[in-house]
Amino acid sequence: MSQDQDNFRDSIGTIKEDGKRAWVFPKKPSGKLYNYRKYVSYALLTFLIASPFIKINGNQFLMFNVLERRFNIFGFPFYPQDFHLFVISMIIGVVFIALFTVAFGRIFCGWMCPQTIFMEMVFRRIEYWIDGDRGSQIKLDRQEWNAEKIRKRVLKWFIFFIISFIIANVFLTYLIGSDRLIQYVTDGPTQHISTMVSLLIFTGVFYFVFAWFREQVCIIACPYGRMQGVLLDNKSIVVAYDYERGEAENGRKKWRKNEDREALGNGDCIDCNQCVNVCPTGIDIRNGTQLECVNCTACIDECDTIMEKVNLPKGLIRYASEDEITKKEKFKFTPRLKGYTAVLVILTGVLVGMMFLRNDLEANILRLPGQLYEHKEGNIISNVYTYKLLNKTTKPVVDVHFELMSPKGEIKLVRTDNFDVAPEALAEGTLFIEINASALSGDKNNLKIGVYSNDKLIETTTARFLAPRSYK
Ligand code: SF4
Ligand code: SF4
Repeated sequence: MSQDQDNFRDSIGTIKEDGKRAWVFPKKPSGKLYNYRKYVSYALLTFLIASPFIKINGNQFLMFNVLERRFNIFGFPFYPQDFHLFVISMIIGVVFIALFTVAFGRIFCGWMCPQTIFMEMVFRRIEYWIDGDRGSQIKLDRQEWNAEKIRKRVLKWFIFFIISFIIANVFLTYLIGSDRLIQYVTDGPTQHISTMVSLLIFTGVFYFVFAWFREQVCIIACPYGRMQGVLLDNKSIVVAYDYERGEAENGRKKWRKNEDREALGNGDCIDCNQCVNVCPTGIDIRNGTQLECVNCTACIDECDTIMEKVNLPKGLIRYASEDEITKKEKFKFTPRLKGYTAVLVILTGVLVGMMFLRNDLEANILRLPGQLYEHKEGNIISNVYTYKLLNKTTKPVVDVHFELMSPKGEIKLVRTDNFDVAPEALAEGTLFIEINASALSGDKNNLKIGVYSNDKLIETTTARFLAPRSYK
């Protein structure tokens, strides 16, 4: 590619030379892939809205309560004590995205990213409904503020605001839980002013993103888009223009009826610019893979429609790797892909194993800081501890007591004997452990403690026990 042709890399398509925003008015997409994307987006939007209301064993299916540090992933509750599991699942997520990107480029951006789905399948479609297609939108934008423009703008901004408010509510169900949001709605906004203020702030952010910032999120703000340069290689499948076919010997040329393009050496691209007009990020895919391309497939559909009209084979723009276009090579499972897959399988195995091995009740017994030991009558050594029992289930753990499993000794709870731990709650308290000095083997002893519910062992934990040195 010559230096002149490479000029498109000097700036991004949505910013003019004077630094001002170049507003994109994409043509309304249509075609087979757009229809498939619509179905996928309906399914994902339904999942996004419904999942906070789905419960597994009483746990919300997905919840990210950062304020109270409680997370539910696929119905599994995670607490700060499970942070290692959370970190592993996050690593798996990152590796999965990397592996997927190496193989299939930014297919996630075009088909699954919430930004693309809300922008292209919700807000943009409302815009087409109110403002019309590309031509009408450009005309409306340029025309003076008359009654028609005011009516259309007010209607559009009002609907955008309402949808942003709904998205903010959905977002809140993930943050604080659907039960609590329903409770807040029932109580009325005046009872929960701070939540209402947060909701309006989120609404404002979503409104700003979808009404104004739009494709800039993908181009400027999204870190995933920035990773493409290191993740993609010549074998990655991306939305690509087949420049071998499109340019041929003489380059792209306008369409003339009844001409024999092959004999003339003209490429199959008829330079109609429709792939550029339909692009929501305002780029020309014929310049090659670019940071701005979110792989939305709109240009594939549009070019296929053009190819059909001029009676040329479809697929001038299609999902293809660079090697497929230049060397006509088919997709291969490369060593890099194999490596990523192996890491992914191992990490998933570790995560599943850890989830199943995890106890529903987590017990921690720690010596009270700054306390040594007490020598009591009858050669008894006593240490004082604090205990914390976290019930990770949605059912109460009843009739709980502790027993010293080794060495022999006695556990005495301060204030109470047996107690209950409420669902998803933490029970804390103080206890004494008393052991006859003859049963100790040194000044620092390891204890094994059993936690029982209804006389059934449900968890074991360990603790340190201090004694005088003379008992070594
Ligand atoms: S839509 Fe197809 S034919 Fe038209 S300019 Fe784009 S690549 Fe060329
Ligand atoms: S170049 Fe094509 S696939 Fe990429 S963002 Fe534009 S229309 Fe979508």
